[in-house]
Amino acid sequence: MHVIKISENNVQLVMQSVQFSEEKDYEFLNDLWEYVLFSKNVTRTLPMCKICSGKGTFEYEGLGGIKKVGNGEMYIPITEKEVYVVPDILFHYFYSHNAIPTSTFRNAVLHGHKPDTNQYRKIVREVYDSNGKYGILWKSIRCSYCGEIFEGSISFRISKHKGNVRMFRENFFSKILYGQRYVGVCLKCLHYSRV
Ligand SMILES: [Zn+2]
Ligand SMILES: [Zn+2]
Repeated sequence: MHVIKISENNVQLVMQSVQFSEEKDYEFLNDLWEYVLFSKNVTRTLPMCKICSGKGTFEYEGLGGIKKVGNGEMYIPITEKEVYVVPDILFHYFYSHNAIPTSTFRNAVLHGHKPDTNQYRKIVREVYDSNGKYGILWKSIRCSYCGEIFEGSISFRISKHKGNVRMFRENFFSKILYGQRYVGVCLKCLHYSRV
């Protein structure tokens, strides 16, 4: 597997760094959001946005999930043998600052295998495991797919919003309507599981 790890030094591989669009590219953003929801927590320190200097407040919702970006990395297949590893904070640049993706990256996001499919699991398994186990063993919970004791971390909070991805701000109604229900990714089988 050829892994292309994106960092500050090579971000131009995925983002046309000096270009910003007037309009939101929802086709791209919604598909990218699928990878954000599946992203794996790899750090506890939240990065700062270099454009708006925001920190730790980048929470979005879409496709039935709410998630704060900044702690995770996304795994985005380009081909069967090539995968991007991308810090999920980049979602904030694409969504909130309308940064324009490179065409290779946009194509991978739109046409690559999507999280929670067997092809996807096969492609990302190795790279997903290679950065260490950040999951916790939840002895009282079993994975709703494989039935093993759940080991993994929380991926997102369940939301009722099914439309285009958007900014999320907690308020009285979301607290009442959404509650605090979560989904995690099981390290053993790489399926989503209620936790
Ligand atoms: Zn920003
Ligand atoms: Zn499982």
